[in-house]
Amino acid sequence: MAELQRLGGQNCAYFTRGRCTRTVSPEASQAARCTLLEQRRKVGAATMDRLDRLKNLADEGDREVARRHVIQKNLEQITRLSCPRYVPKAAVGPLCRHQHLVSCLLLLPHCRGRCEHYLRRHDPADKREPKP
Ligand code: SF4
Ligand code: SF4
Repeated sequence: MAELQRLGGQNCAYFTRGRCTRTVSPEASQAARCTLLEQRRKVGAATMDRLDRLKNLADEGDREVARRHVIQKNLEQITRLSCPRYVPKAAVGPLCRHQHLVSCLLLLPHCRGRCEHYLRRHDPADKREPKP
């Protein structure tokens, strides 16, 4: 008997470049987060914390010197961050072409074809075909 084949998921609203972007659980979403974005977020949070603590300095001049130092350090740290799979989305700018909102498409599961969660897409399909 011939084997039944699933219909493709290309027209599903969750389908993006061959991956399924449907939220399954908080744990799965966390595991698929863009690591570069996470690192940047952590550095940003630490910087904000340091800037906040500068309020304790009484002298305005000292505060300004310290503020510039913290911002410089933040820039250096951000510049050093990297991801081995990062591919720039455009010629300029920090966005990665694998980034989907806060997730990394490479960490999301492949769509194996139309499933019970299939949701028909209404907009023009610019995300259907996996690109190299
Ligand atoms: S490949 Fe791109 S989207 Fe994925 S984790 Fe690296 S920087 Fe983030
Ligand atoms: S068809 Fe199913 S597996 Fe494929 S993208 Fe849609 S929800 Fe995900």
